[in-house]
Amino acid sequence: MPLTQVTVHVVQCDACNTVFDDEEGGTLFPTVAAANDSARALDWIVIGGQYLCPTRDQAHQAIIDQAMPPEPVMQVPGQIDFDGGEEP
Ligand SMILES: [Zn+2]
Repeated sequence: MPLTQVTVHVVQCDACNTVFDDEEGGTLFPTVAAANDSARALDWIVIGGQYLCPTRDQAHQAIIDQAMPPEPVMQVPGQIDFDGGEEP
């Protein structure tokens, strides 16, 4: 068998370096889209090319604040749809 180079993607939290694991052995993803979908499905935040695990502390919040456009009232609900549309 020839030696074949493949590319896989690993999701790691930008704040605490936790490596994403779907608890079924899924840590390597063939595409960025697959990685993003899996991460979002388990409450990771994918925003501005950054990844945040579900931990919520000041370090994680700081990255969220940087990535989000400024708003008069800064409140982050448990889950935000970053793919989707505008606020109604
Ligand atoms: Zn984290």
